[in-house]
Amino acid sequence: MIRLIERAKDFKNRTAVVSNGASYSYGQLLEASRNVAANLLDGKDDLNEARITFLVPPSFEYTAVQWGIWAAGGIAVPLCVLHPLPSIQYVLEDTQAEIVIAHKDYIGFLKPLEATIGISVTALESVLKENTTSLPDIDSRRRAMILYTSGTTNRPKGVVTTHDNIEAQITTLVDAWEWHKEDYILNILPLHHVHGIINVMGCALWSGACCEFLPKFDAEKVWEIFKSGRLTLFMAVPTIYYKLISFWEKAAAEEQKKMSKAASKLRLMVSGSAALPVPVLQKWKEITGQTLLERYGMTEIGMGLSNSYRGERRPGHVGLPLPGVQMRLVDSNDETVGENEPGEFQIKGPSVFKEYWKKQEATRKAFTEDGWFITGDIGMLNDGLYKILGRDSVDIIKSGGYKISALEIEDVLRKHELVDDCAVVGLPDDEWGEVVSACIVSKKDTVDFKQISEWLKTQLPAYKIPRNYIVRNGLPRNVLGKVTKNEVKEMWPPLTP
Ligand code: ATP
Ligand code: MG
Repeated sequence: MIRLIERAKDFKNRTAVVSNGASYSYGQLLEASRNVAANLLDGKDDLNEARITFLVPPSFEYTAVQWGIWAAGGIAVPLCVLHPLPSIQYVLEDTQAEIVIAHKDYIGFLKPLEATIGISVTALESVLKENTTSLPDIDSRRRAMILYTSGTTNRPKGVVTTHDNIEAQITTLVDAWEWHKEDYILNILPLHHVHGIINVMGCALWSGACCEFLPKFDAEKVWEIFKSGRLTLFMAVPTIYYKLISFWEKAAAEEQKKMSKAASKLRLMVSGSAALPVPVLQKWKEITGQTLLERYGMTEIGMGLSNSYRGERRPGHVGLPLPGVQMRLVDSNDETVGENEPGEFQIKGPSVFKEYWKKQEATRKAFTEDGWFITGDIGMLNDGLYKILGRDSVDIIKSGGYKISALEIEDVLRKHELVDDCAVVGLPDDEWGEVVSACIVSKKDTVDFKQISEWLKTQLPAYKIPRNYIVRNGLPRNVLGKVTKNEVKEMWPPLTP
């Protein structure tokens, strides 16, 4: 039984989704998803975990297709409307999908794949047609979704979750963040990652609340919607808050007051998917009075740690494990580390994914023998709350026997008056193993690295001071706004042997 869909029957007359200027009730969502399920079954009893991919912008139709696939017993594989064709082809081939449901704007874009990989493109309209065939009963332990990781460190991996996993990922947030049916959230995130699918849309629809979709992020529109007064919650990645701040800064003083007042009325604003720079948190608080709630999560686990809804939200920290999430911080021998000692997060619990799609070996390696999921993220318990130090693979720089957190150096660098943004990486070095290196986005045309370096020496121990600098107009980011550090590393010419 798929409880998310079952529950909607209790909210039939409430508004579920607002998209493209129209409102849709839970009753309409149930009916539309039922049609999708029946059309996908097309005479079969059950889709039996067939992978159904879909390229549909965030909208009512997106939700109907997702629920329809679930109701027919398929595995939902959402594709990203911002991705280029090769990234989409990778997912279609990796999941061995037979069909891809496409919104009319994307049918032409996908057509070449019919010839190259033999996939059939199905028009969204055709799966939404009325169809009243009966639907199968779905066991909640079955596979429900494959989401691809952001590909920040490597090729994206297909993460398989069951209906039970999805339910656990949703309910822990519904409890911790006190979702209720009067809530109203705006989704501006792409819907092929847990952030938009679980935290925003999933929690809203589980709660009988309303989820409004913007097809794509637009700072002006978001501020307009804040000003309408209809939102109770908002969730975004740090770069979005940065863009909203920039937009506010350009507005006239009178207008700024209105914008700030409107944003101050929401009951909760959340940031996640990447570390929230402390200056962004501070500036957002200054202009809206809102202390952003930062949380930590992954495609493989949904959300793991969160600052408190009612208690302390400490800058640079991600709080404590969410209800139902078991977490431990361990050294390289899987021994638990003490307070203020760095360790790797390992997670257990009903929200943890089932497997990497068709990657048995990778799945095996991702868990300890006693079943803890190895996140690859390093953190520390600091005065009662956890802090993320970064990914073991790219943010923890191994230099001369030290393990240095790139995120810590980035935090300090951002305090410098010339630094607008930055990314710190370790470059390979024969003598040191890796050397700390910084890519800087400057507020001015010229940057005096020497001056920055001298200033850093007053803030950090010598072994943490970058040896190499480079300046760029912006940082390479993926569609979730995460800095792709492997690309940053390639900005420097390769070391000559
Ligand atoms: P890939 O696994 O393909 O390299 P990815 O790890 O970026 O990509 P996601 O599952 O979308 O894919 O992202 C999870 C990662 O995002 C976490 O492992 C962590 O490194 C990072 N992350 C999430 N929230 C935070 C946060 N609040 N602070 C710092 N890092 C965060
Ligand atoms: Mg990852």
